[in-house]
Amino acid sequence: MAINKTKFIWMDGKFVKWQNAKVHILTHALHYGSAIFEGIHSYKTDKGTAIFRLEDHINRFFHSANALSMQIKFTKKELKNAMINLVKKNNIEDGYIRPLAYYGYGNIGVFPRDISTNVALITILWGSYYSKPLRIMISRFRRHSPKSTIFGAKIGGNYTNSILAMYEARKKGYDEALMLDEDSFVSEGPAENIFLVKNGKLITPNSKSALHGITRNSIILISQNLNIDVKETNVTVNDVHNADELFFSGTATEIAPIISVDNKVIGNGRIGKITITIRNKYYDVVRGKDGKYKKWLTHT
Ligand code: PMP
Repeated sequence: MAINKTKFIWMDGKFVKWQNAKVHILTHALHYGSAIFEGIHSYKTDKGTAIFRLEDHINRFFHSANALSMQIKFTKKELKNAMINLVKKNNIEDGYIRPLAYYGYGNIGVFPRDISTNVALITILWGSYYSKPLRIMISRFRRHSPKSTIFGAKIGGNYTNSILAMYEARKKGYDEALMLDEDSFVSEGPAENIFLVKNGKLITPNSKSALHGITRNSIILISQNLNIDVKETNVTVNDVHNADELFFSGTATEIAPIISVDNKVIGNGRIGKITITIRNKYYDVVRGKDGKYKKWLTHT
């Protein structure tokens, strides 16, 4: 998604103008990927802008910071208020919020000794991520083993693995990649979780190499409330190739239908019925049209 500029970026407690939001070239995170981040979606609703599952994202932000032993100088409440204010100041309705914490200036060695953690909050305007159903391939790059990173943390440096998979897919003419874990079970996309529909049931990998995303969790709960059977289990490449329906899920991508994997057509090659049902409900939920889920919305 291209960057749609807004007026202000929040950096370490101050609102700075977009063009002044700069860092030094010796910023540790620039060299070693020692940053952690979140991706949060805000939506236009009948009651103004609402941020979807803000507290869950903030909790994961602190979990990620903890994974890299970062000391965040702000409380959860302070960051929540700063995000709400930033959304207001930038007049964001449908938007994407990117909280970022990074080891800054102070030491060039790998170990971030005596380096303080900087925090930034960015908002951009956001539309639909993918307008067309996706054609994907199984990547040759494996997702990080939970033995080589920390489960559930969004660590900047880990995403070079996703970049490799995306380049591989795009160079071969596919839209996206699907990655396996070290045991050859299906894990996730470069920045999305995956769901399969088989015989009317919803299935998603339980791989510990995948981030168990907030959208994934929302979809599981929404589907159960729609009386759709949901199973978290080991998923093989064969299961994916033979699925009736497939879709990616994520804060940015929302629910993105997949119509082929390795050029093998999924179902009848069109967006599946259950995918449509879940997607429509998801849109209602995020836009505040279903009161049952209003606890997931933070109005600004
Ligand atoms: N997996 C990875 C690797 C991701 O980066 C994301 C995006 N945060 C997801 C899955 C989906 O997570 P969520 O639904 O919380 O955005």
